[in-house]
Order: sequence, then structure tokens, then C-alpha cells
Amino acid sequence: MAKYKLKYDKDACQSNFVCTAVDPEHFKEGEDGKAELIGGSTEDGLFVLGVDEDGKSAAEQAANGCPMMAIELVDSEAGETIAP
Ligand code: SF4
Repeated sequence: MAKYKLKYDKDACQSNFVCTAVDPEHFKEGEDGKAELIGGSTEDGLFVLGVDEDGKSAAEQAANGCPMMAIELVDSEAGETIAP
């Protein structure tokens, strides 16, 4: 199991693409003009994606940089929010 998990609330996205700039490994601009979590699946109305240690720093920047608080990075094992 991935150590971290990105959670993304697409409904909250306002398409300013801070996330794709700081974390292009996990986020891209989708065809609907909103951010897309690359390879993500849906869970409780959110898009989710497992992130390993290598991807943590960029994912953290995306979560901290999103002005809409649409992105959250959590520690999967502890169940704690890391960012924002
Ligand atoms: S930074 Fe937030 S609001 Fe901006 S495109 Fe990414 S998810 Fe959407």
C-alpha cells in the first residue's frame, strides 16, 4: 500500500492550475478544463491516488498551493492530514 494518499475534490476546482505546475506527475489539465488526478480512482465522491515517498514533496506542494483547498495529502497509515 502506498504510504500517502492524494484526495482531490474536482467540484471545488477553479482551474488555475497551480497543481499541474508544481506536481505534473500527479495532475494534468483535463478535457473538461479542470484538473485531473492522473491514474486516480473515485472514492466517496472524491478522486484518490496512492503516492509513494518519491512523490510526496510535489504532492505536498500541490495540496498547499491549491487556492481552493481542493487537494489533500494524507498519511495512509496514520490517517492524518499532511497538507494543507
Ligand atoms: S490548484 Fe486546485 S483549483 Fe487550481 S487547478 Fe489544481 S485543483 Fe484546481
